[in-house]
Amino acid sequence: MNAPHEVLPPLRSSDTSRGPRTNAPEGSSSQAELLDRYAHSLIPVFGTPQLVLERGDGAWVWDTDGKRYLDLVGGIAVNALGHNHPALVAAVSKQVAEMAHISNFYTSRAQIELAERVLEIAGAPAGSGVFFANSGAEAVEGAIKLSRRTGRTGLVAAEGAFHGRTTGALALTSKAAYRDPFAPLIPDVTHVPYNDNEALRAAVTTETAAVVLEPVQGEAGAIVADPAYLRAARELTTAAGALLVIDEVQTGIGRTGDWFGFQESGIVPDAITLAKGLGGGLPVGALVTFGPDVTGLLTAGQHGSTFSGNPLVAAAGLSVLSTIEAEGLLDHVVQMGEHLVGAVAALGHPDIEGVRGRGLLRAVVLRSELSSGIASAAREAGFLVNPVAPDAIRLVPPLVVTREELDLFVAALPSLIATAKEPTP
Ligand SMILES: *Cc1c(COP(=O)(O)O)cnc(C)c1O
Repeated sequence: MNAPHEVLPPLRSSDTSRGPRTNAPEGSSSQAELLDRYAHSLIPVFGTPQLVLERGDGAWVWDTDGKRYLDLVGGIAVNALGHNHPALVAAVSKQVAEMAHISNFYTSRAQIELAERVLEIAGAPAGSGVFFANSGAEAVEGAIKLSRRTGRTGLVAAEGAFHGRTTGALALTSKAAYRDPFAPLIPDVTHVPYNDNEALRAAVTTETAAVVLEPVQGEAGAIVADPAYLRAARELTTAAGALLVIDEVQTGIGRTGDWFGFQESGIVPDAITLAKGLGGGLPVGALVTFGPDVTGLLTAGQHGSTFSGNPLVAAAGLSVLSTIEAEGLLDHVVQMGEHLVGAVAALGHPDIEGVRGRGLLRAVVLRSELSSGIASAAREAGFLVNPVAPDAIRLVPPLVVTREELDLFVAALPSLIATAKEPTP
């Protein structure tokens, strides 16, 4: 077992020192057998999983055949502290041994402390509040219900937006392939081009309940909002009496190098939604309302969830926040993000356009549609990356990823691109 931050080069598939590889003949691989059982027991909404993973440590994971990978997906921006971080393991182990769940007829010290800490790092004024959800989509559902309490129904979201898969959140998500099989969704949703102040101005009216925007569109390939766009959204919503909801499910909890993506723009939103990084791998989300007027829109009995902020996930969230602070991870994220941009630029590779995004929410942008070929070659070579768009590879590694680990991937990129360009037999 490696120490959490120890750096070793990824194993090649030709390295036989750790038992069978994924490219072993069928039958000798536990991967193939387990994936066959998966196919016979799970609803196939995720397609065929790429790997069966068994354990992790820092930014590394191992599959059931013992092959090791540098994890630059990080559970899709979830494993903020990496895998198996001792602080998270200790906090969750202690809490589960004391009490995992109690229902919201009761509360716990952990729940109260996590709410207080979230309000503090969000810079939320007095009278702000937190509702804990169990996922990003549920946090967004909370925001939609909050918006209905304005007495209006209009919602404005951006083209390219991803806000989740429950039916309300799906209405805000823009991708037709996700939406169309479930139409009709909730009405009165308008999608406007992202980063287009004039389009937003035209869409926001006195019938708008809320404008919902991501500070960086992660699922669209790490497309960054201009801070001036978020400020324009703030001005337009204030003038129209509408709420401004910032979806920080992917950008929140240090991912951009600030605690929250909106903070760079200097605005005060009416609400933010959180999930992914908050629990470091345990399922916890949150709707945060800013100030007493917005918080007061939801009153006793109007919303709820059985699991909401139970002691187990609250203990996880507290350990994530205190570890980000104790390890200085916000600065580290900024440095690692800049390092990645510089290292990829230094390759001067003709197939690479550049690196987009903020902090450690990044995409390597390609000059042609090579991303899925690169992701396959990467997996074979021991790197997990996400081909988020045909021409973009998303990198959302654990916030603890090191310079040396990022360099391993950057050094491998030219050969991964070469493999992706080989004609398929
Ligand atoms: C992932 C994501 C969601 C949905 O979160 P789930 O936990 O998958 O429901 C919502 N908004 C944004 C911005 C996301 O990245």
